Amino acid sequence: MASLRSIVRYGYAPFMLLGMTTSAYWIVTSARTIYDYFWLAPLLALAYGTAFAAERIAPFFDEWNDHSQHGDTRANVLHTIAYEWSSLTGVLLIPLMVWLFPFQGIWPTAWPQWCQVVLAFLIADFAFMMIHYLSHRYSPLWRLHAVHHGVGRLYGFNGVIRHPLHQTIDMLVGTAPLVILGMPQDVALVLGVVITITLIVQHSNVDTRLGPCEGHLSIGRLHHLHHVNWGTEGDCNFGLLLTAWDKMLGTFKAAPSRPITARDMGIDELPNFPKSFLEQLILPFIYKPGEGEPARYQQQTPAQRARALDKGFHAAE
Ligand SMILES: [Zn+2]
Repeated sequence: MASLRSIVRYGYAPFMLLGMTTSAYWIVTSARTIYDYFWLAPLLALAYGTAFAAERIAPFFDEWNDHSQHGDTRANVLHTIAYEWSSLTGVLLIPLMVWLFPFQGIWPTAWPQWCQVVLAFLIADFAFMMIHYLSHRYSPLWRLHAVHHGVGRLYGFNGVIRHPLHQTIDMLVGTAPLVILGMPQDVALVLGVVITITLIVQHSNVDTRLGPCEGHLSIGRLHHLHHVNWGTEGDCNFGLLLTAWDKMLGTFKAAPSRPITARDMGIDELPNFPKSFLEQLILPFIYKPGEGEPARYQQQTPAQRARALDKGFHAAE
């Protein structure tokens, strides 16, 4: 078991970030008909399955694997469906955008396709990092992004827990400009899968060891530090994959001020972050940052409710 754990610790990130993404590339570039693209669906299912198996074998925190105790599986599955559906819709809308912006030619379509995918990913990684950074600074964006940060644990599904409006902003700012510049639909499709796989790895509850890439990829421990509920300490490490952008921006932090425990994820003022998908969708319209937890999320004991009633009774006198 110990050797299997070591294999998972060291092999998980390369298998996902290189193996799975290469497979996605191969599926898209060797497709003869549009139906061949559907092989991406079992590939994504395999990526999620690999993450869950790796989390069992080599977890960061055993507590984060207890799905029934957290009670958020249903909401997370719905988020995953919403996210993947929205990504697919974005890719399907590309011909419409090409028609709307017919000044193609800036995108280097003559480059080998894998070079185009790498270029697209680098630009998207930078754009997502900037949107992410701004989402921690500006209230309207933070309200939307809070849906991603409110959860009390990190695991395979968390990467795609995003408010649909926030995901739309990500797509409009992060990837639509690439399409307007002429990024082909095939490249966009691979890019979408690569982003999903990166999000899975970034949030997995796997004790990932990155060897020489440690400190250069914003996953595992570095991303835990971004999710801590310790005041403003998590306002760092905004990158999707590379830490280079954070280092340029001065927002890179290599280590936390104290050891991170399984109970340190979330948002300080939202200790009772809702578990229902619908409640999470309306959260940005109810939650006012800095004004404490909205009353509808507060789980009061019968005694607290009775005292609140008593206070109201005396106030009426
Ligand atoms: Zn964030």
